[in-house]
Amino acid sequence: MIEFRDVTKTYPDGTHAVRGFSLVIPARQITVLVGSSGSGKTTLMRMINRMVDPTSGTVEIDGQDISKIEPVQLRRGIGYVMQNSGLLPHRTVAENIATVPRLTGVPKAAARARALELMDTVGLARELADRYPSQLSGGQQQRVGVARGLAVDPNILLMDEPFSAVDPIVRDELQQEVLRLQKQLAKTIVFVSHDIDEAFLLGDQVVVLEQGGHIVQQGTPEQILAEPANDFVATFIGADRGKRRLSVSSAASRGDDRVLVDAGGYPVGVIAAPGGRLSVASARVGNASPKSRSVSNKTDQAGDA
Ligand code: ADP
Ligand code: MG
Repeated sequence: MIEFRDVTKTYPDGTHAVRGFSLVIPARQITVLVGSSGSGKTTLMRMINRMVDPTSGTVEIDGQDISKIEPVQLRRGIGYVMQNSGLLPHRTVAENIATVPRLTGVPKAAARARALELMDTVGLARELADRYPSQLSGGQQQRVGVARGLAVDPNILLMDEPFSAVDPIVRDELQQEVLRLQKQLAKTIVFVSHDIDEAFLLGDQVVVLEQGGHIVQQGTPEQILAEPANDFVATFIGADRGKRRLSVSSAASRGDDRVLVDAGGYPVGVIAAPGGRLSVASARVGNASPKSRSVSNKTDQAGDA
């Protein structure tokens, strides 16, 4: 478990990136911090591995104040995946993945063997092991970035908008890959996104942020969709665009799955039990068959407004 207690970060130039932020991030779940650019997401994430230290307040991991832990030691338990993969251009895929294990003294052959295993884990063909990053597609580079994040076998994985630079189809694949990986690995994942669809797809817990790291709403995707806390959230999730109020229909629900309906009673999505995973019909009114897609009430409503 990660806990932020009344954390504030003011950068030396006086920018108040985060003010009075408190949050519990449960172990072995995916928590998504979602908000527009400049809302303090990256700052919050970097306070977990001490790339940034708070101006006041504390961050605890499993009850321990991390300001008392050496950054290098702390980071051994925390993987970090960056937006533009952050791969070293003059190192091969396998060398990139093995970078941190090598730094911590793992012998070359063992580090390479582990890198190859991690390539399997993230769905990369082993044939790519000796290529350089520039010889990979954007999606493959991001997979290498994820493999590198996993290389120290961390309990915590920080992912800062890792898929925002890849095209939508590849992004869909990578998101599904994260869900599959999480089933297998059950890490504590903190995922930063500016994309609410991505947040709802991946998050067990979604935290909607405004400027200054102000929490506007936190909860499961289901809770936030069904009851946006205020206009900011409603606009952000696009609930106002189709002029619909989403609710959970018991009548339309089958078995343990619950069906989300709009104000007209039309199904717009299914929340599959027991994990509360959301899949949403990408088609609108008239087509009730849900596809396994992220929440699309924002994007498919052109005709409703
Ligand atoms: P996000 O990741 O949500 O886009 P950031 O955490 O990167 O937000 O930034 C939050 C605010 O802090 C922004 O106003 C940004 O310009 C500012 N900021 C971020 N890093 C620095 C820094 N090193 N020095 C000064 N201001 C910064
Ligand atoms: Mg950021």
